[in-house]
Amino acid sequence: MPENTGPVAAQHRVMDAAIQTAYAAFIHHTQACVECRTGGMDCAVAGDLRQAYRAAKKGPAQSR
Ligand SMILES: [Zn+2]
Repeated sequence: MPENTGPVAAQHRVMDAAIQTAYAAFIHHTQACVECRTGGMDCAVAGDLRQAYRAAKKGPAQSR
């Protein structure tokens, strides 16, 4: 078996970065957004960010 350094590993790293970026965007928003902090619920923007995070976690193979 080849080492984990091929294009698949590189793609996995890119995916990881996309997930972390989406997650960071969501967290940063909820920490800065008054509606999210006081409402205890995701506002519309947070909902979009959460969806983007979920989509990034699933990967491009499952677009639903
Ligand atoms: Zn918000």
